[in-house]
Amino acid sequence: MNMFEESELFKDAFEQMEEAAQLMDLDPNIIERLKYPKRALQVAVPIRLDDGTVKTFMGYRVQHNMTIGPGKGGIRYHPSVSLSETAALAMLMTFKCALVGLPLGGAKGGIRVDPRDLSRQELQALTRRYATEISMIVGPNIDIPAPDIGTDAQTMAWFMDTYSQIKGYTIPGVVTGKPIKVGGSLGRAEATGKGVAFCINFAAEKLDMKIDKNTTVAIHGFGKVGIPAAEDLSAQGAKIVAVSDVSGAVYNAEGINVELAASWVKEGKLLKDLDNVQHISNEELLTLDVDILIPAAIDGVVTEKNASKVKARIIAEGANGPLTKDAIDIVTKNGIFIIPDILCNAGGVIVSYFEWVQGLQNFFWGLDEINNKLHEILKEAFESVWVCHKKYGVNMKKAAFMGALKRLESAMRLRGFFPG
Ligand code: NAD
Repeated sequence: MNMFEESELFKDAFEQMEEAAQLMDLDPNIIERLKYPKRALQVAVPIRLDDGTVKTFMGYRVQHNMTIGPGKGGIRYHPSVSLSETAALAMLMTFKCALVGLPLGGAKGGIRVDPRDLSRQELQALTRRYATEISMIVGPNIDIPAPDIGTDAQTMAWFMDTYSQIKGYTIPGVVTGKPIKVGGSLGRAEATGKGVAFCINFAAEKLDMKIDKNTTVAIHGFGKVGIPAAEDLSAQGAKIVAVSDVSGAVYNAEGINVELAASWVKEGKLLKDLDNVQHISNEELLTLDVDILIPAAIDGVVTEKNASKVKARIIAEGANGPLTKDAIDIVTKNGIFIIPDILCNAGGVIVSYFEWVQGLQNFFWGLDEINNKLHEILKEAFESVWVCHKKYGVNMKKAAFMGALKRLESAMRLRGFFPG
Protein backbone atom coordinates (compact mmCIF):
# COMPACT_ATOMS: atom_id res chain seq x y z
CA MET A 1 0.00 0.00 0.00
CA ASN A 2 1.37 3.43 -0.82
CA MET A 3 0.73 6.37 1.52
CA PHE A 4 -2.04 7.74 -0.71
CA GLU A 5 -4.12 4.59 -0.33
CA GLU A 6 -4.68 5.00 3.40
CA SER A 7 -8.10 6.63 3.10
CA GLU A 8 -11.21 4.77 1.99
CA LEU A 9 -11.98 7.71 -0.29
CA PHE A 10 -8.74 7.22 -2.25
CA LYS A 11 -9.25 3.45 -2.56
CA ASP A 12 -12.85 3.95 -3.63
CA ALA A 13 -12.04 6.63 -6.20
CA PHE A 14 -9.21 4.57 -7.62
CA GLU A 15 -11.26 1.37 -7.85
CA GLN A 16 -14.09 3.20 -9.56
CA MET A 17 -11.63 4.63 -12.06
CA GLU A 18 -10.21 1.15 -12.70
CA GLU A 19 -13.66 -0.37 -13.25
CA ALA A 20 -14.62 2.39 -15.67
CA ALA A 21 -11.30 1.90 -17.48
CA GLN A 22 -11.93 -1.83 -17.88
CA LEU A 23 -15.38 -1.21 -19.32
CA MET A 24 -13.80 1.11 -21.89
CA ASP A 25 -10.90 -1.20 -22.59
CA LEU A 26 -8.62 1.69 -21.74
CA ASP A 27 -4.86 1.34 -22.16
CA PRO A 28 -3.57 0.27 -18.69
CA ASN A 29 -0.63 2.69 -19.11
CA ILE A 30 -3.09 5.58 -18.81
CA ILE A 31 -4.39 4.23 -15.50
CA GLU A 32 -0.82 3.65 -14.33
CA ARG A 33 -0.16 7.35 -14.85
CA LEU A 34 -3.34 8.39 -13.01
CA LYS A 35 -2.68 6.15 -10.03
CA TYR A 36 -0.53 8.63 -8.11
CA PRO A 37 -0.71 12.39 -7.78
CA LYS A 38 1.85 14.31 -9.81
CA ARG A 39 2.95 16.35 -6.80
CA ALA A 40 2.10 16.35 -3.08
CA LEU A 41 3.35 18.85 -0.53
CA GLN A 42 3.00 18.42 3.20
CA VAL A 43 3.67 21.47 5.34
CA ALA A 44 3.77 22.35 9.02
CA VAL A 45 1.62 25.39 9.79
CA PRO A 46 2.65 26.85 13.16
CA ILE A 47 0.64 29.79 14.49
CA ARG A 48 0.61 31.83 17.70
CA LEU A 49 -2.72 31.35 19.45
CA ASP A 50 -4.52 34.21 21.20
CA ASP A 51 -3.21 32.93 24.56
CA GLY A 52 0.39 33.40 23.40
CA THR A 53 1.26 29.73 22.89
CA VAL A 54 2.36 28.28 19.56
CA LYS A 55 0.44 25.41 17.97
CA THR A 56 1.36 23.54 14.80
CA PHE A 57 -1.16 22.15 12.32
CA MET A 58 -0.52 19.87 9.33
CA GLY A 59 -1.29 21.28 5.90
CA TYR A 60 -1.31 19.72 2.42
CA ARG A 61 -1.56 20.65 -1.24
CA VAL A 62 -1.81 17.85 -3.76
CA GLN A 63 -1.75 18.24 -7.56
CA HIS A 64 -3.10 15.07 -9.07
CA ASN A 65 -2.96 15.63 -12.81
CA MET A 66 -2.32 18.78 -14.82
CA THR A 67 -2.41 17.43 -18.39
CA ILE A 68 -5.34 19.61 -19.43
CA GLY A 69 -4.40 22.77 -17.54
CA PRO A 70 -3.40 24.30 -14.20
CA GLY A 71 -4.48 22.48 -11.04
CA LYS A 72 -7.81 23.48 -9.54
CA GLY A 73 -9.40 22.48 -6.26
CA GLY A 74 -10.55 23.70 -2.89
CA ILE A 75 -8.88 24.14 0.47
CA ARG A 76 -10.50 22.24 3.33
CA TYR A 77 -10.23 23.02 7.06
CA HIS A 78 -11.53 19.94 8.86
CA PRO A 79 -10.28 17.52 11.53
CA SER A 80 -10.37 14.60 9.06
CA VAL A 81 -7.95 16.17 6.55
CA SER A 82 -4.99 13.91 5.71
CA LEU A 83 -2.55 13.47 2.84
CA SER A 84 -4.49 10.49 1.52
CA GLU A 85 -7.90 12.20 1.72
CA THR A 86 -6.47 15.29 0.02
CA ALA A 87 -4.97 13.12 -2.74
CA ALA A 88 -8.34 11.40 -3.27
CA LEU A 89 -10.11 14.74 -3.52
CA ALA A 90 -7.44 15.99 -5.96
CA MET A 91 -8.03 12.89 -8.10
CA LEU A 92 -11.77 13.58 -8.12
CA MET A 93 -11.01 17.16 -9.24
CA THR A 94 -9.01 15.80 -12.20
CA PHE A 95 -12.05 13.80 -13.29
CA LYS A 96 -14.52 16.61 -12.56
CA CYS A 97 -12.67 19.20 -14.64
CA ALA A 98 -12.17 16.70 -17.47
CA LEU A 99 -15.80 15.56 -17.45
CA VAL A 100 -17.27 19.06 -17.75
CA GLY A 101 -14.66 20.11 -20.31
CA LEU A 102 -12.73 22.77 -18.38
CA PRO A 103 -9.12 23.53 -19.36
CA LEU A 104 -7.99 22.67 -15.83
CA GLY A 105 -6.37 19.81 -13.93
CA GLY A 106 -7.12 18.42 -10.48
CA ALA A 107 -5.71 19.58 -7.15
CA LYS A 108 -6.81 19.90 -3.54
CA GLY A 109 -5.50 21.26 -0.27
CA GLY A 110 -6.34 21.41 3.36
CA ILE A 111 -5.34 21.74 6.98
CA ARG A 112 -6.15 19.21 9.68
CA VAL A 113 -7.98 21.56 12.04
CA ASP A 114 -11.43 22.23 13.41
CA PRO A 115 -11.86 25.88 12.38
CA ARG A 116 -14.56 26.35 15.03
CA ASP A 117 -11.84 26.00 17.69
CA LEU A 118 -9.96 29.07 16.39
CA SER A 119 -10.70 32.80 16.68
CA ARG A 120 -10.91 34.96 13.54
CA GLN A 121 -7.39 36.25 14.17
CA GLU A 122 -6.04 32.70 14.62
CA LEU A 123 -7.77 31.62 11.39
CA GLN A 124 -6.21 34.53 9.54
CA ALA A 125 -2.77 33.59 10.88
CA LEU A 126 -3.34 29.95 9.92
CA THR A 127 -4.40 30.86 6.38
CA ARG A 128 -1.52 33.29 5.84
CA ARG A 129 1.10 30.82 7.09
CA TYR A 130 -0.38 28.00 5.01
CA ALA A 131 -0.50 30.25 1.92
CA THR A 132 3.17 31.12 2.47
CA GLU A 133 4.20 27.47 2.92
CA ILE A 134 2.50 26.34 -0.32
CA SER A 135 3.16 29.55 -2.31
CA MET A 136 5.93 27.92 -4.36
CA ILE A 137 3.54 25.45 -6.00
CA VAL A 138 0.44 27.61 -6.55
CA GLY A 139 -0.24 30.55 -8.89
CA PRO A 140 -2.72 31.64 -11.56
CA ASN A 141 -0.97 29.54 -14.20
CA ILE A 142 0.03 26.66 -11.91
CA ASP A 143 -2.64 25.75 -9.38
CA ILE A 144 -5.61 27.83 -8.25
CA PRO A 145 -7.22 27.03 -4.86
CA ALA A 146 -10.85 27.78 -3.87
CA PRO A 147 -13.07 27.37 -0.80
CA ASP A 148 -14.21 23.97 0.47
CA ILE A 149 -15.42 22.66 3.85
CA GLY A 150 -14.55 25.09 6.64
CA THR A 151 -13.20 27.84 4.36
CA ASP A 152 -14.97 30.72 2.62
CA ALA A 153 -14.57 33.93 0.60
CA GLN A 154 -12.76 35.61 3.52
CA THR A 155 -10.22 32.75 3.64
CA MET A 156 -9.60 33.27 -0.10
CA ALA A 157 -9.13 37.03 0.41
CA TRP A 158 -6.44 36.36 3.07
CA PHE A 159 -4.81 33.75 0.84
CA MET A 160 -4.77 36.08 -2.16
CA ASP A 161 -3.41 38.97 -0.07
CA THR A 162 -0.59 36.82 1.36
CA TYR A 163 0.41 35.49 -2.06
CA SER A 164 0.31 39.03 -3.48
CA GLN A 165 2.50 40.32 -0.61
CA ILE A 166 5.07 37.62 -1.38
CA LYS A 167 5.12 38.44 -5.10
CA GLY A 168 4.98 42.21 -4.61
CA TYR A 169 1.86 42.97 -6.62
CA THR A 170 -1.84 42.08 -6.55
CA ILE A 171 -2.58 38.69 -8.09
CA PRO A 172 -6.31 38.01 -7.79
CA GLY A 173 -6.07 34.99 -10.15
CA VAL A 174 -4.23 32.85 -7.56
CA VAL A 175 -7.54 31.80 -5.99
CA THR A 176 -11.23 31.74 -6.87
CA GLY A 177 -14.24 32.07 -4.60
CA LYS A 178 -12.97 35.52 -3.52
CA PRO A 179 -15.28 38.27 -2.25
CA ILE A 180 -16.74 40.26 -5.19
CA LYS A 181 -14.93 43.42 -4.04
CA VAL A 182 -11.49 41.85 -4.55
CA GLY A 183 -12.12 40.20 -7.90
CA GLY A 184 -14.69 37.51 -7.11
CA SER A 185 -17.36 36.50 -9.58
CA LEU A 186 -21.07 37.06 -9.28
CA GLY A 187 -22.80 33.75 -8.70
CA ARG A 188 -19.73 31.90 -7.37
CA ALA A 189 -20.99 31.58 -3.79
CA GLU A 190 -24.19 29.85 -4.91
CA ALA A 191 -22.76 28.05 -7.95
CA THR A 192 -22.23 24.59 -6.47
CA GLY A 193 -25.69 24.41 -4.89
CA LYS A 194 -27.30 25.91 -7.98
CA GLY A 195 -25.53 23.31 -10.11
CA VAL A 196 -26.86 20.57 -7.81
CA ALA A 197 -30.39 21.93 -8.37
CA PHE A 198 -29.82 22.12 -12.15
CA CYS A 199 -28.68 18.49 -12.20
CA ILE A 200 -31.71 17.41 -10.15
CA ASN A 201 -33.92 19.11 -12.73
CA PHE A 202 -32.12 17.34 -15.61
CA ALA A 203 -32.51 14.00 -13.82
CA ALA A 204 -36.17 14.63 -13.01
CA GLU A 205 -36.84 15.30 -16.67
CA LYS A 206 -35.21 12.02 -17.69
CA LEU A 207 -37.06 10.08 -14.98
CA ASP A 208 -40.43 11.69 -15.74
CA MET A 209 -40.54 13.27 -12.31
CA LYS A 210 -41.89 16.73 -11.57
CA ILE A 211 -40.27 19.11 -9.08
CA ASP A 212 -43.27 20.69 -7.35
CA LYS A 213 -44.99 21.02 -3.96
CA ASN A 214 -45.24 17.24 -3.67
CA THR A 215 -41.48 16.76 -4.03
CA THR A 216 -39.71 16.10 -0.74
CA VAL A 217 -36.00 16.75 -0.22
CA ALA A 218 -33.58 15.96 2.62
CA ILE A 219 -30.22 17.73 2.74
CA HIS A 220 -27.31 16.33 4.75
CA GLY A 221 -24.88 19.23 5.24
CA PHE A 222 -26.49 22.65 5.23
CA GLY A 223 -23.45 24.73 4.28
CA LYS A 224 -22.12 26.50 1.20
CA VAL A 225 -23.44 23.73 -1.07
CA GLY A 226 -26.56 22.63 0.83
CA ILE A 227 -28.04 26.09 1.48
CA PRO A 228 -28.20 27.39 -2.12
CA ALA A 229 -29.41 23.96 -3.33
CA ALA A 230 -32.24 24.18 -0.76
CA GLU A 231 -33.04 27.76 -1.75
CA ASP A 232 -33.20 26.89 -5.44
CA LEU A 233 -35.35 23.78 -5.02
CA SER A 234 -37.68 25.42 -2.54
CA ALA A 235 -38.11 28.35 -4.99
CA GLN A 236 -39.31 25.72 -7.46
CA GLY A 237 -41.92 24.64 -4.92
CA ALA A 238 -40.20 21.54 -3.49
CA LYS A 239 -40.54 20.81 0.22
CA ILE A 240 -37.21 20.71 2.06
CA VAL A 241 -38.27 18.42 4.92
CA ALA A 242 -34.90 18.02 6.65
CA VAL A 243 -31.50 19.70 6.79
CA SER A 244 -28.49 18.99 8.96
CA ASP A 245 -25.10 20.17 10.09
CA VAL A 246 -22.36 18.55 12.14
CA SER A 247 -24.50 18.94 15.30
CA GLY A 248 -27.58 17.07 14.03
CA ALA A 249 -30.63 17.46 11.80
CA VAL A 250 -33.95 19.30 11.89
CA TYR A 251 -37.12 17.85 10.39
CA ASN A 252 -40.55 19.12 9.43
CA ALA A 253 -42.85 16.98 7.27
CA GLU A 254 -44.55 20.17 6.02
CA GLY A 255 -41.23 21.70 5.00
CA ILE A 256 -38.50 23.53 6.89
CA ASN A 257 -38.42 27.32 6.73
CA VAL A 258 -35.28 27.41 4.57
CA GLU A 259 -34.73 31.14 4.90
CA LEU A 260 -34.84 30.99 8.69
CA ALA A 261 -32.61 27.92 8.93
CA ALA A 262 -30.11 29.46 6.47
CA SER A 263 -29.85 32.74 8.36
CA TRP A 264 -29.42 30.78 11.63
CA VAL A 265 -26.49 28.84 10.15
CA LYS A 266 -24.99 31.93 8.51
CA GLU A 267 -24.90 33.59 11.96
CA GLY A 268 -22.56 30.76 12.98
CA LYS A 269 -25.15 28.92 15.08
CA LEU A 270 -25.69 25.15 15.18
CA LEU A 271 -28.92 23.51 14.01
CA LYS A 272 -29.18 21.55 17.27
CA ASP A 273 -29.99 24.89 18.95
CA LEU A 274 -32.77 25.86 16.50
CA ASP A 275 -36.14 26.15 18.30
CA ASN A 276 -39.63 25.07 17.21
CA VAL A 277 -38.50 22.21 14.96
CA GLN A 278 -38.26 18.47 15.42
CA HIS A 279 -34.69 17.32 15.98
CA ILE A 280 -33.47 14.06 14.44
CA SER A 281 -30.01 12.58 13.94
CA ASN A 282 -27.89 12.87 10.81
CA GLU A 283 -28.24 9.10 10.43
CA GLU A 284 -32.05 9.35 10.47
CA LEU A 285 -31.99 12.11 7.88
CA LEU A 286 -30.12 9.90 5.41
CA THR A 287 -32.81 7.23 5.53
CA LEU A 288 -35.92 9.45 5.42
CA ASP A 289 -38.64 8.53 2.97
CA VAL A 290 -38.05 11.42 0.55
CA ASP A 291 -37.92 11.84 -3.23
CA ILE A 292 -34.49 13.45 -3.26
CA LEU A 293 -31.56 13.02 -0.89
CA ILE A 294 -28.69 15.50 -1.18
CA PRO A 295 -25.63 14.42 0.83
CA ALA A 296 -23.73 17.73 0.86
CA ALA A 297 -21.45 17.47 3.90
CA ILE A 298 -18.56 15.06 3.84
CA ASP A 299 -17.43 11.81 2.23
CA GLY A 300 -18.39 8.28 3.27
CA VAL A 301 -21.72 8.99 4.96
CA VAL A 302 -23.67 6.33 3.06
CA THR A 303 -21.88 3.00 3.46
CA GLU A 304 -22.70 -0.70 3.19
CA LYS A 305 -24.18 -0.35 6.70
CA ASN A 306 -26.98 2.12 5.92
CA ALA A 307 -27.25 2.06 2.10
CA SER A 308 -30.07 -0.48 2.02
CA LYS A 309 -32.14 1.81 4.27
CA VAL A 310 -31.97 4.78 1.89
CA LYS A 311 -35.42 5.36 0.42
CA ALA A 312 -34.89 8.35 -1.86
CA ARG A 313 -35.56 8.01 -5.58
CA ILE A 314 -32.67 10.29 -6.51
CA ILE A 315 -29.39 10.78 -4.64
CA ALA A 316 -27.71 13.99 -5.74
CA GLU A 317 -24.08 13.89 -4.57
CA GLY A 318 -23.50 17.49 -3.48
CA ALA A 319 -20.46 16.44 -1.44
CA ASN A 320 -17.40 14.69 -2.86
CA GLY A 321 -17.60 10.94 -2.35
CA PRO A 322 -20.58 10.85 0.07
CA LEU A 323 -21.33 7.25 -0.94
CA THR A 324 -18.74 4.52 -0.58
CA LYS A 325 -18.25 2.18 -3.52
CA ASP A 326 -20.19 -0.59 -1.72
CA ALA A 327 -23.02 1.81 -1.00
CA ILE A 328 -23.17 2.81 -4.66
CA ASP A 329 -23.61 -0.86 -5.65
CA ILE A 330 -26.37 -1.34 -3.07
CA VAL A 331 -28.41 1.76 -3.94
CA THR A 332 -28.01 1.09 -7.67
CA LYS A 333 -29.39 -2.43 -7.13
CA ASN A 334 -32.30 -0.86 -5.27
CA GLY A 335 -33.11 1.25 -8.32
CA ILE A 336 -31.99 4.58 -6.89
CA PHE A 337 -30.72 7.06 -9.46
CA ILE A 338 -27.37 8.64 -8.50
CA ILE A 339 -26.22 11.98 -9.85
CA PRO A 340 -22.45 11.51 -9.41
CA ASP A 341 -20.38 14.06 -7.49
CA ILE A 342 -18.04 14.90 -10.36
CA LEU A 343 -21.08 16.07 -12.31
CA CYS A 344 -23.50 17.09 -9.57
CA ASN A 345 -21.22 19.46 -7.66
CA ALA A 346 -19.21 20.67 -10.68
CA GLY A 347 -21.08 24.00 -10.65
CA GLY A 348 -18.53 25.35 -8.18
CA VAL A 349 -15.49 24.67 -10.30
CA ILE A 350 -17.28 25.83 -13.44
CA VAL A 351 -18.00 29.27 -11.98
CA SER A 352 -14.52 29.26 -10.42
CA TYR A 353 -13.26 28.83 -13.97
CA PHE A 354 -15.43 31.81 -15.01
CA GLU A 355 -13.96 33.82 -12.12
CA TRP A 356 -10.44 32.92 -13.20
CA VAL A 357 -11.15 33.89 -16.83
CA GLN A 358 -12.81 37.17 -15.80
CA GLY A 359 -9.84 37.96 -13.54
CA LEU A 360 -7.28 37.27 -16.27
CA GLN A 361 -9.20 39.57 -18.63
CA ASN A 362 -10.12 42.15 -15.99
CA PHE A 363 -13.59 42.12 -17.51
CA PHE A 364 -16.56 41.01 -15.45
CA TRP A 365 -19.78 39.38 -16.60
CA GLY A 366 -23.38 39.83 -15.42
CA LEU A 367 -25.13 37.24 -13.25
CA ASP A 368 -27.52 36.09 -16.00
CA GLU A 369 -24.62 35.42 -18.34
CA ILE A 370 -22.85 33.41 -15.63
CA ASN A 371 -25.90 31.34 -14.71
CA ASN A 372 -26.81 30.72 -18.36
CA LYS A 373 -23.28 29.56 -19.17
CA LEU A 374 -23.25 27.36 -16.04
CA HIS A 375 -26.56 25.79 -17.07
CA GLU A 376 -25.29 25.20 -20.62
CA ILE A 377 -22.08 23.44 -19.52
CA LEU A 378 -23.81 21.27 -16.93
CA LYS A 379 -26.62 20.32 -19.30
CA GLU A 380 -24.16 19.20 -21.94
CA ALA A 381 -22.15 17.21 -19.39
CA PHE A 382 -25.30 15.63 -17.93
CA GLU A 383 -26.45 14.60 -21.42
CA SER A 384 -23.11 13.00 -22.21
CA VAL A 385 -23.16 11.00 -18.96
CA TRP A 386 -26.78 10.00 -19.54
CA VAL A 387 -25.99 8.79 -23.08
CA CYS A 388 -23.07 6.69 -21.78
CA HIS A 389 -25.25 5.34 -18.91
CA LYS A 390 -27.84 4.16 -21.44
CA LYS A 391 -25.40 2.97 -24.10
CA TYR A 392 -23.31 0.77 -21.80
CA GLY A 393 -26.02 -0.07 -19.24
CA VAL A 394 -23.85 1.22 -16.38
CA ASN A 395 -24.87 3.49 -13.50
CA MET A 396 -24.34 7.23 -13.82
CA LYS A 397 -21.34 7.05 -11.51
CA LYS A 398 -19.41 4.74 -13.84
CA ALA A 399 -20.64 6.64 -16.88
CA ALA A 400 -19.22 9.87 -15.45
CA PHE A 401 -15.82 8.26 -14.80
CA MET A 402 -15.85 6.89 -18.36
CA GLY A 403 -16.55 10.35 -19.81
CA ALA A 404 -13.75 11.91 -17.78
CA LEU A 405 -11.26 9.16 -18.65
CA LYS A 406 -12.03 9.50 -22.35
CA ARG A 407 -11.12 13.19 -22.33
CA LEU A 408 -8.03 12.64 -20.18
CA GLU A 409 -6.82 9.80 -22.35
CA SER A 410 -6.95 11.81 -25.55
CA ALA A 411 -5.20 14.79 -23.94
CA MET A 412 -2.48 12.53 -22.50
CA ARG A 413 -1.93 10.84 -25.84
CA LEU A 414 -1.70 14.15 -27.70
CA ARG A 415 0.84 15.54 -25.24
CA GLY A 416 2.82 12.32 -25.35
CA PHE A 417 5.02 10.78 -22.73
CA PHE A 418 7.97 12.61 -21.17
CA PRO A 419 10.85 11.87 -21.52
CA GLY A 420 9.58 9.37 -24.09
P1 NAD B 1 -19.31 23.85 4.42
O1 NAD B 1 -18.26 23.85 5.44
O2 NAD B 1 -19.87 25.15 3.95
O3 NAD B 1 -20.55 22.94 4.90
C1 NAD B 1 -20.37 21.62 5.33
C2 NAD B 1 -21.59 21.18 6.08
O4 NAD B 1 -21.41 19.81 6.49
C3 NAD B 1 -21.86 21.96 7.35
O5 NAD B 1 -23.25 22.02 7.58
C4 NAD B 1 -21.18 21.09 8.43
O6 NAD B 1 -21.71 21.32 9.73
C5 NAD B 1 -21.50 19.70 7.91
N1 NAD B 1 -20.59 18.67 8.38
C6 NAD B 1 -19.23 18.71 8.48
N2 NAD B 1 -18.75 17.57 8.97
C7 NAD B 1 -19.81 16.76 9.16
C8 NAD B 1 -19.96 15.46 9.64
N3 NAD B 1 -18.90 14.73 10.04
N4 NAD B 1 -21.23 14.93 9.71
C9 NAD B 1 -22.30 15.66 9.32
N5 NAD B 1 -22.21 16.91 8.85
C10 NAD B 1 -20.99 17.45 8.78
O7 NAD B 1 -18.73 23.01 3.20
P2 NAD B 1 -19.21 23.02 1.68
O8 NAD B 1 -18.34 23.95 0.93
O9 NAD B 1 -20.68 23.18 1.62
O10 NAD B 1 -18.78 21.55 1.23
C11 NAD B 1 -19.61 20.43 1.44
C12 NAD B 1 -19.21 19.31 0.50
O11 NAD B 1 -19.35 19.76 -0.86
C13 NAD B 1 -17.77 18.83 0.61
O12 NAD B 1 -17.70 17.45 0.32
C14 NAD B 1 -17.05 19.61 -0.48
O13 NAD B 1 -15.86 18.98 -0.90
C15 NAD B 1 -18.12 19.58 -1.55
N6 NAD B 1 -17.98 20.64 -2.55
C16 NAD B 1 -17.96 21.94 -2.19
C17 NAD B 1 -17.86 22.90 -3.18
C18 NAD B 1 -17.92 24.37 -2.87
O14 NAD B 1 -17.95 25.18 -3.82
N7 NAD B 1 -17.98 24.79 -1.63
C19 NAD B 1 -17.73 22.53 -4.53
C20 NAD B 1 -17.76 21.17 -4.85
C21 NAD B 1 -17.88 20.24 -3.85
